[in-house]
Amino acid sequence: MKTRAAVVFERSGKFSIEQLQISDPNDEEVLVRIVAAGICHTDLAARDMHLPIPPARALPGVFGHEGAGVVEKVGARVTKVKPGDHVALGWNSCGACAACMSGNDPYCDNLFLYNFNGARPDGTTTLRKGDQVIYGSFFSQSSLAEFALANERNVVKVRKDVPLEILGPLGCGVRTGAGAVMNTLRPRPGASIAIFGVGPVGMSAVLAAVVCGCTTVIAVDVHKGRLEKAKEFGATHTIDASEVNPVEAIREMTAGGAEYSLECVGNPKVLRQAVDVLPRRGVCGLLGVVPPGTEVALDMDLIMNGRTVRGILAGDSISDLFVPKLIELYSHGRFPFDRLITFYPFEEINRAVEDMEHGRVIKPVLRM
Ligand SMILES: [Zn+2]
Ligand SMILES: [Zn+2]
Repeated sequence: MKTRAAVVFERSGKFSIEQLQISDPNDEEVLVRIVAAGICHTDLAARDMHLPIPPARALPGVFGHEGAGVVEKVGARVTKVKPGDHVALGWNSCGACAACMSGNDPYCDNLFLYNFNGARPDGTTTLRKGDQVIYGSFFSQSSLAEFALANERNVVKVRKDVPLEILGPLGCGVRTGAGAVMNTLRPRPGASIAIFGVGPVGMSAVLAAVVCGCTTVIAVDVHKGRLEKAKEFGATHTIDASEVNPVEAIREMTAGGAEYSLECVGNPKVLRQAVDVLPRRGVCGLLGVVPPGTEVALDMDLIMNGRTVRGILAGDSISDLFVPKLIELYSHGRFPFDRLITFYPFEEINRAVEDMEHGRVIKPVLRM
C-alpha cells in the first residue's frame, strides 16, 4: 500500500515528503495510521548520522519515534490490539534477553538491532520509492509518515477519550523526563530537585516533580523563554546559567544542596554541576545523550560521601504500564504535558525542525 512519508536523502539534509510503498505487516507487526507524531532530538541525530545505525542502512531513511494513531491492520499472531484501537508507539526491545525478562526493557541487550537497524531485526526493509529501497523501522516505527509499521511489542493501547494527537511524545521524550523522576529518583513530598536543561525532557521532569510533591523545583537553562515556561509548569526557581554560576545559586536557594538533580543536556560540564549541587546522599540522574567515549571529571571524594550518579534510559519505564499512568494523570489535570506541544501540519516539517533547533518551541508535533 502507499504512504506519504518524510524522507531524508542525504546526511543533515532537509526532510522531503514523498509517496512511498509500505509493506504489509508480518505476523508480529501492526500497521498504524499515524494521526500525529512528535519530533525528538534523536530523529535529528539520525538525520545527521550520529546514531549507531549501520551506515549502509541509514539513508535515505524515514525517522520518527513518537507516533500516535489508529490500528489499521494486524499480523496473524498479534493479540494485543485490533483494527480501530488507538495506540501510542514506543521503543522496541527483544523480549528475550536478561534485561527484558527482568522488566528492564529500555536496557535491552539488543536495543540497537530493534531500534536502529534501518530495517526489521531480520534485515528486511519495509519502505520503497519505486525500485529504490528507503530505510525505516526506526524505533520499529518510522512514524514521520501517514502509515507506520510497528511491532506488537512497541504499541501501547490507549484510552479513546483523550485526544490521540497529543499522545505520541509519551512514547519517548515525555516518558524519559517524567519516568526519571517518578520511577528512578522517586523524591519524597517536600524534596528539592534541580533540573538542568528544560527542553521537552527536562520540562516533563518539572511536571513530574510537581506530581511527586517536590516543593523546591529549580529549572536551569540558558534560554530565557524556556525558563519562563518552566515557571508556568511549576518550577519554583529558575536560573539562567549564562548569567550566574548555577552551583552557587542552587546551594544558596536550598541551604546546602538539591537532594535530587537531573542532567538533561548531554554536556560534561553540566553533569559536573549537577553532581556538585547535591548534598550528602543526593542522587543525580543522567538523561543527556552524548557521543560514546565522552568523559567527565568528578570529585571522587564528593561521590564517596553517599552521592549517586545514575544513567537513566526511557525513564526506567515499560511503556505498556507507564504510558497509561501518564494519561490517567493527564486526564485528572495533574500532568498537563499537552502544554509542551506546538502543532504543525505534516507538510511543514522543516519549519517545525527549525523552530525546535532554535529553541522557539519545546515539543513540535506534526499532524498527518
Ligand atoms: Zn531484550
Ligand atoms: Zn526520542
